Amino acid sequence: MLRFDLITLFPDMADAMSRHGITARALQRGLWQLQRWNPRDFTRDAWRTVDDRPYGGGPGMVMLAQPLAETISAVREDRRGAGAAPAPVIALSPQGKRFSDVRARALAASSGAILIAGRYEAIDQRLLDRYVDDEWSIGDFVVSGGELPAMMVMDAAVRHVPGALNDSNSAEQESFAAGVLDCPHYTRPESFEGLAVPEVLLSGHHERISRWRREQALVATLKKRPDLLEAARRDERLSAADEAFIAGLTLPR
Ligand code: SAM
Repeated sequence: MLRFDLITLFPDMADAMSRHGITARALQRGLWQLQRWNPRDFTRDAWRTVDDRPYGGGPGMVMLAQPLAETISAVREDRRGAGAAPAPVIALSPQGKRFSDVRARALAASSGAILIAGRYEAIDQRLLDRYVDDEWSIGDFVVSGGELPAMMVMDAAVRHVPGALNDSNSAEQESFAAGVLDCPHYTRPESFEGLAVPEVLLSGHHERISRWRREQALVATLKKRPDLLEAARRDERLSAADEAFIAGLTLPR
């Protein structure tokens, strides 16, 4: 069973996952579990201090190692007590390995992770050195805390749990699933501000629709993410028909 333990100073932020949409429904269906842990509950002083000024000076505050270490120990014990398999401790960090669909799939098929959402300037390096197995980033930019990155990681993983999406094909048709981007989609009305829905989608001809979608996915990938198309080619994920279609394309520059 996929179980996430989110260590955060703002546990309520994860309500966005437990109360809305696909992740909430999957939670209710028992397809995954979410436990939240606040390091403030593991402090030892009357003020419940979780941060302090950095040695050597400089801006910002640093998260104390001790409350985080004790939180992680409590999480591990709780997982053991619940019969959950051990899980790696992952710190969300702009310095981490780039999170991706490949990682999301692997995560979905695993027992989950203990995710640490950082705040302030940093987490004491000794905590990272001793307790953290890996660091993951959601991109080359900095946000104010690890909660949103952690929620993105959990959401991306939950979508790959069988039964989480109403239509099990959805995850397979999405961007990255087949090494390419998703195709364009249309809904009613048939004409919007003079723009028509592509004829083929109204044809009811499943084979033609499916071929058109694949081709449009290739066009979108070539235009927006040519690097992905190169990777798909290297991984031998493009068929002879795909290659023939691409060879016949003349894209506007
Ligand atoms: N001083 C840190 C640095 O420059 O590497 C940034 C700290 S940031 C203000 C606070 C927290 O937000 C981090 O500990 C991390 O948990 C989270 N965070 C910020 N940007 C992130 C990103 N791109 N990916 C994952 N987590 C991020």
